[in-house]
Amino acid sequence: MYNSFFVLKLKLMQGGINIEEELMQNLKGALYSDYVTCSGVMLKIGGNHYDNKSINLDSEYLMQREYVTANINSKSKFILSTDENGNFIIKDNKGCVLFHDIGISRPMLNQKEISPVAVHGDRIRVSLITGCAGDCKFCGLNKLKYCVNEFNVLKEEIDFILNLKKDVKRLFITGGNPLEKDLVKVVKTVKKLIKEYKKRGIKNFDFMFAPRGLKKYFYNNNIENEYKKFLLKIKKIGVTTVAIDLEMFNNKLLRSYAPFKNRIGKKNYFKILDLAVKVFGEGNVRSNIIVGIEPLEDSVKAIKALTNIKVQPCLSPYEPYKFLPEIKKPKWNDLNLVFQQAERICKYKKVKIAPSIYATDTHNSVASAQNIKITLSELQSFYSNVTEIKKSVLEEMNFKK
Ligand code: SF4
Repeated sequence: MYNSFFVLKLKLMQGGINIEEELMQNLKGALYSDYVTCSGVMLKIGGNHYDNKSINLDSEYLMQREYVTANINSKSKFILSTDENGNFIIKDNKGCVLFHDIGISRPMLNQKEISPVAVHGDRIRVSLITGCAGDCKFCGLNKLKYCVNEFNVLKEEIDFILNLKKDVKRLFITGGNPLEKDLVKVVKTVKKLIKEYKKRGIKNFDFMFAPRGLKKYFYNNNIENEYKKFLLKIKKIGVTTVAIDLEMFNNKLLRSYAPFKNRIGKKNYFKILDLAVKVFGEGNVRSNIIVGIEPLEDSVKAIKALTNIKVQPCLSPYEPYKFLPEIKKPKWNDLNLVFQQAERICKYKKVKIAPSIYATDTHNSVASAQNIKITLSELQSFYSNVTEIKKSVLEEMNFKK
């Protein structure tokens, strides 16, 4: 059912990719140094060689593509290389070409984990908060120095990107979770962002947050009305889609690995997710589940529970993290197993696996891009050869002057 592109994606998620020394020099400015799940090289497998003058967005060739961010790993059996024309290819360690249709997307120059605004493929990520009030053990965000990013700082950087990449049409408004004292302030910033960028053609404002009211988090209380007020408020100011990430389903492991989420309580996550589907509609609410920390059966239970209330499950493979060395990266066939179960459950419940709206967002999750409609900005954010990617770096440098 799923082709070799998808299998390669999963294998790259597990084992990363080695980059040939000479190519590494040519990829300066094209590699990601971001969160653990977004570090390395962002690849597009398939659909890269097309004629710019006559693009047919319904073409079957363009639809056959998958996205993956692969860590750089000098021991990987997959090697990123170029052919005689400078086109990106993947070889095995005996030099045989495995895939000859590879694209690469690149971050903004100097983009780092702490950057308040960042680019991933054709999406602009806006972090309202650097750092996080949460304390999840698998996440590096809470190790960063906490600060609230002011609207003007965010605006300056978003404007720069939009002037350079005119086709980008969406903002992912995220970052760590605010301290309680900053909850009101961040919603004001979201409101200003939407007001500013809606008039400039941005269509999708995707907002990620933990269960909360307008001014408070609630810890294991019955607070349905407070959640409802908050959801209605963000809907009113223009948020279009939401992510409320439970991450883990196993109670014991949730308690030890995600104490902040555990204090809020699984029940409250499901309560606000259920309400969010009512407010934003089916297809516009998702929740992330990390695959690889808890037993696979628990991930499957999470998928069932989420789809029961029409929430789209988003499956992210656990990415080894220096503060959690005891947990190993999941094997690609385990990821595949969970994916197949998710497909079966989702088909039965008539819910899509997330991400399902923009294909490039599948780059760090166990999801396929193949049934997602292609957009022009998706095509234009990947480069199929060295010359193109170097040109894009130069363009940005000249634009800065
Ligand atoms: S709440 Fe979210 S951002 Fe904060 S530490 Fe946990 S996973 Fe990371």
